[in-house]
Amino acid sequence: MTNTFQPIDAAQVPRFAGPATFMRLPAVTSAEGLDIALVGIPWDGGTTNRAGARHGPREIRSQSSLMRRVHHVSGTEPFSLARVADVGDVSVNPINLLDGLKRIEEGIAAIVGAGAMPLIAGGDHLTTLPSLRAVARKRPVGMIHFDAHSDTNDKYFGDNPYTHGTPFRRAIEEGLLDGKRVVQIGIRGSIYDPGEHDWARAQGIRIIYMEECVRRGVEDVMAEAKAIAGSGPTYVTFDIDCIDPSMAPGTGTPELGGFTTREAQAMLRLLDGVNIVGADVVEVAPPFDLGNLTSLAGATMMFELLCVMARLVSERRGNAS
Ligand code: MN
Ligand code: MN
Repeated sequence: MTNTFQPIDAAQVPRFAGPATFMRLPAVTSAEGLDIALVGIPWDGGTTNRAGARHGPREIRSQSSLMRRVHHVSGTEPFSLARVADVGDVSVNPINLLDGLKRIEEGIAAIVGAGAMPLIAGGDHLTTLPSLRAVARKRPVGMIHFDAHSDTNDKYFGDNPYTHGTPFRRAIEEGLLDGKRVVQIGIRGSIYDPGEHDWARAQGIRIIYMEECVRRGVEDVMAEAKAIAGSGPTYVTFDIDCIDPSMAPGTGTPELGGFTTREAQAMLRLLDGVNIVGADVVEVAPPFDLGNLTSLAGATMMFELLCVMARLVSERRGNAS
């Protein structure tokens, strides 16, 4: 397949030059005609501690200029297998949480409605809730969730239901997620209450703590994760704080003892065979970053996800013909 959506040739325009788009792809105004839409959600209205993830998409775009055309392990050429472009940022409202959630849902729903898969750069993790509202309108989805935190808390500061610590409780309550097809990988750090994860477990969510990941290794963990997600539609959400803060310091809620970037890449490469309907990389907060390390990690994880999703697009096309 040939398509017109190609990165700017680095032999013609060096990678540090020109306006930044995701992966140096064309900037387009709609997802019509795309297989995969790269999109930003510059919003951190759900952040409870260190704000700044609203600046994530712009810095991830900048660092994504370092991505090249071919995956060095799988040989995947994502821009040959799929029509991919940068559709810009969804509309957000930085000072009104409920309106922000509504705008994000509409922005992602427009991509889904155009027949493209969203690959999203957040934003804080609350942005995943409206993204799920957009991709799970017709049926609940499963989810493979990389994070230091379960993000299944209930309320905050009294009766507030929406923070980046609550999206997956709300998503289960709203029927967007099938709890028995949800797996959380890399969970760690101190918690507020000994029973903090009981609700999630009662919904059927499988929590694989960091210590278990270390004991078993990432291949074994991913085999289990894929079995849990099964063959049904599945969302992949990657909170950058699953990576150790020594390698990804620019994030809202850092937790020691995390994955290396190499382990994170290895896990994403093992997503082959998962029926992905959308994915995001969230919680990159450039104001707390050092030397753009975290934005580079975010861009690199997006490239890993893009390669898996492009192969999926190619397989689905092959099955359809
Ligand atoms: Mn999170
Ligand atoms: Mn987190």
